[in-house]
Amino acid sequence: MTVTIASLGFPRIGPRRELKFALERYWSGQSGETELHEAASGLRTATWARQKALGIDWLPSNDFSLYDHMLDMSLMLGAIPARYGAADGEAGLATYFAMARGTAGEESGCSHAHASLTACEMTKWFDTNYHFLVPELHAGQRLALGRLKAVEEYREAKAQGYETRPVIVGPVTWLSLAKGHGLDPFDRLDEILGLYGVILGQLALAGADWVQIDEPILVTDLDDRQRRAFTRAYARLARSGPKLMLTTYFGGLDDTLSFAASLPVSGLHVDLVRAPHQLAPLLKAAPRSLLLSLGVIDGRNIWRADLEALLDRLEPVAAMRDIVIAPSCSLLHVPVDLALEHKLDDEVKQWLAFAVQKLEELAILNRALVDGRASVAAELAASTQAAVLRRASPRIHDAQVAARIAAITPAMHDRRSGHAARRGQQQAALGLPAFPTTTIGSFPQTADVRHARAEHGRGRLDTDAYRQFLREETERAIRWQEEAGLDMLVHGEFERNDMVQYFGEQLSGFAFTANGWVQSYGSRCVRPPILYGDVSRPRAMTVDWWRHAQGLTDKPVKGMLTGPVTILNWSFVRDDQPREASCRQIALAIRDEVLDLEKAGAQAIQIDEAALREGLPLRRRDWQAYLDWAVACFRLAAAGADDATQIHTHMCYSEFNDILPSIGAMDADVISIETARSQMELLEGFARYRYPAAIGPGVYDIHAPRVPGEAEMVALMRMARRHLAPDQLWVNPDCGLKTRTWEEVRPAIAAMVAAARTLRADL
Ligand code: GLN
Ligand code: ZN
Repeated sequence: MTVTIASLGFPRIGPRRELKFALERYWSGQSGETELHEAASGLRTATWARQKALGIDWLPSNDFSLYDHMLDMSLMLGAIPARYGAADGEAGLATYFAMARGTAGEESGCSHAHASLTACEMTKWFDTNYHFLVPELHAGQRLALGRLKAVEEYREAKAQGYETRPVIVGPVTWLSLAKGHGLDPFDRLDEILGLYGVILGQLALAGADWVQIDEPILVTDLDDRQRRAFTRAYARLARSGPKLMLTTYFGGLDDTLSFAASLPVSGLHVDLVRAPHQLAPLLKAAPRSLLLSLGVIDGRNIWRADLEALLDRLEPVAAMRDIVIAPSCSLLHVPVDLALEHKLDDEVKQWLAFAVQKLEELAILNRALVDGRASVAAELAASTQAAVLRRASPRIHDAQVAARIAAITPAMHDRRSGHAARRGQQQAALGLPAFPTTTIGSFPQTADVRHARAEHGRGRLDTDAYRQFLREETERAIRWQEEAGLDMLVHGEFERNDMVQYFGEQLSGFAFTANGWVQSYGSRCVRPPILYGDVSRPRAMTVDWWRHAQGLTDKPVKGMLTGPVTILNWSFVRDDQPREASCRQIALAIRDEVLDLEKAGAQAIQIDEAALREGLPLRRRDWQAYLDWAVACFRLAAAGADDATQIHTHMCYSEFNDILPSIGAMDADVISIETARSQMELLEGFARYRYPAAIGPGVYDIHAPRVPGEAEMVALMRMARRHLAPDQLWVNPDCGLKTRTWEEVRPAIAAMVAAARTLRADL
């Protein structure tokens, strides 16, 4: 029986974020299209070469993207909303980036700037921290094949001597994630299938024997329409040329297992990390003619695998039938190369594997399966030893943390009084006007700020000078907010590299990489902390910065914290205890910080839970259990606060309708949410649910460089007023402003404050 190794996709950003820098140079006008394409093709070539050298049999192509693979798919199908003005299906880079990021409106000589465009909606890719651009289908919109990027990149690889298996997002996943404007996206199924058929045909013509067709939607709860679409789609696509490796990940097929195994495809990839239990039923259900690809190496986390344990499971299968072994999913979600880490200590480092190391693990597994374990005895012994050492490490278990966890009482999850009673006390303490204005926390992380941080990191700027610099930045931000007329201020988060990393670095139990970047969206990358051990807070983390900021102004300054669920969801977390156990430890640490801020005099404290919703399990049946512990952890973090202390929370990109009771159960006093891109649609749900507390529906989409005007924000708030009482509403941007420039922020916030004044005049 043969065993081969597949890579389902490799990180695109490059080992040192080369793609990010190339994009930024292009966007800022420092380089042109040619340079951008050269940088991109350089990355692709290096990636193929690297994976080939690691012994990968199935090299992916078209896993690369300049911004997002869903957007790439939309463009191949010509699904370009009319507002981008590229109706002929041929869209250039300008259209591509306009859809991705919006446009700021071109400067022209006269005072009228050209109309600016909003970007497509962006949302989380399943339960990952990767964001994709939501496909849009409009009634009457013409679809037509666009540039066939998948074919071009297949050819590009071939010309360099690499035979690849192109990766495309499958039609049912694409349609399931698309938003129909005035139509049900599935109404366009046949038309879409026609286009997919051509794309696959072209791939076959170019020489592609196999195509990896990603249908992660198969691991979610499917409705009948989706099932019918699968049946129809694959009956049709099976005839279009290449063999199809139907690729599922992020969970188990479970109730759709026999359905998926019976689709007329040539191969099926399953995630055996998230859903190891599906192996046995799959072996029963899958006909011999179906090539099984077993995702046995974790594509979502950074732990090194226990290879001997895996071999125990794989050997009997490999004796029975041909298999492909692979990471559970694309390696997009893990950093590129552990070898680039010089900061991690050796003990932690030996527990880890990044993308390159994961492919190396597959190569070892493959040799063990093909030539016997003895052929890789040393490698296997090293893997086993790392697993043993990790389990036994004293750095992971802290008796004091265990004792505090055991002492948690139910009362620790409740504020003293209910929301209505707290509201009066907070209003008396704060004295805010109607439609109070605020921001979400961060202000632009300018080149100066990042430079100072980098210099400090390199030891070229001493800590005193660095802190002095940050104090001055903070002071400028406070002065500017006062001038702008904002009601509740923030210190600006200049000292924070990232809202999770900043806390992780000060908590015990977390490790940090020097270069462990993972793509969040487009050029934006994050370096998730590695949560490896029990969590505690050695000392206050934010109090000094808050005190400095509040000392500069009479307006209230919000304390600014990241919540336990978000710290958890944006970290690589332990796989040796349940997520909720780790979360509860973080919650206790944040609770300590809330109490310290309050003691220092903070009247409002924001606990960001940007990532609460994205932690939702993919299957409905698992939702409530997650929400229950997530909400309990938030409450544990917040509920130590006095009634008069206003607890804010903030959430991004959230579709809340289905989890509103849990949002309510968080019992925050004010919640700010992202709604600017979805026209306040969200608020309907809050109104229906009679959400009792205050809401700041974002009126300014901060994800794009575009500066919104006052009228637009007033219009949005008037839409909001249709759903909610005026005294429930705050006026704020839809997220932090760290990625924007001051040139964008100043006019936008000025317009926002003006909008709030207009709204007050309405009353
Ligand atoms: N307070 C954070 C900020 O303003 C919140 C960011 C977020 O929600 N992603 O940057
Ligand atoms: Zn946000």
